[in-house]
Amino acid sequence: MNYEGIIIRQISGFYDVLHDDAVIQCKARGIFRKEKVTPMVGDKVMIDKDEKLITSIAPRKNQFRRPAVSNIDCLGIVIAAKDPLPDHMLIDKLIISALINDIRPSLIINKADLATNNENDKFEKEYLKAGHSIFLISCKEKTGIDEIKESFNDGIVAFAGQSGVGKSSLLNLLCSDINLSVGELSIRTATGRHTTTHAQVIPLPSGAMLIDTPGFSSIDIDDIMPHKLQFYYSEFAPFMGQCRFADCLHDFEPDCVVKKAVGGEFISSERYERYISILRTLKNEKGRYVR
Ligand code: GDP
Ligand code: ZN
Repeated sequence: MNYEGIIIRQISGFYDVLHDDAVIQCKARGIFRKEKVTPMVGDKVMIDKDEKLITSIAPRKNQFRRPAVSNIDCLGIVIAAKDPLPDHMLIDKLIISALINDIRPSLIINKADLATNNENDKFEKEYLKAGHSIFLISCKEKTGIDEIKESFNDGIVAFAGQSGVGKSSLLNLLCSDINLSVGELSIRTATGRHTTTHAQVIPLPSGAMLIDTPGFSSIDIDDIMPHKLQFYYSEFAPFMGQCRFADCLHDFEPDCVVKKAVGGEFISSERYERYISILRTLKNEKGRYVR
């Protein structure tokens, strides 16, 4: 009989498959090797429970190398209000690379305790305009953590962000009340892990699953065609198709409705300026690109 599960861990040729709150250690069917498919953490699989065998792997929605994980649903982009100061270009690029991979970005501003309300407000506004969900938290004071737990109630969640923003602290807080009897999850997130170097997925009581590696940094946006970049800026959407030129890149073109909206209610000037900077880099890289 075949059952559905998800690979949460890989240890030397064995795969821990989570199925109905139980972890079943499986081997992969020999045929995968012939087909040159290697099961990976995050894979949705069918297993033969009696044989303890992975019999098939569902098509992946996305897949990454570092960490080696598939099927990420949500990217928690962690930012510190201060210490270190936010790298806005990195944030924008992470948002773009999430959207390209069909991943929902979620902005988490940590260290709220270090900044004034005014500073936090300004920051929130810029990204709220972009239509992304934003959480203001402090791992130190344990504020805002419940809201994060509520928002992650499904799918696989990864975290990304500069070093020192509090990713490990957040992972630890989110996992502090997991039921460790689920299988043999002896892992305790990044700081206390003692198993393999592979990424693992930690199931939360809410139904979401956390990737335990706080270093997701896939910023593969160099392959975007310049004219596609605008589609990863949700705040441009209401203006799309209204510029004089149908193929407007919202840069030097005359009668550009997007540009006119910059600095207004919908489009932040800073986000727009960084869009232009990314756009021009892409244009230069794609010298052969003809509009
Ligand atoms: P990572 O590199 O992103 O994983 O960041 P860490 O979780 O290791 O945190 C970096 C430093 O920031 C540590 O010294 C934490 O104690 C500190 N830190 C984490 N969260 C907060 C917070 O909410 N407020 C303050 N003031 N410090 C924090
Ligand atoms: Zn335009």
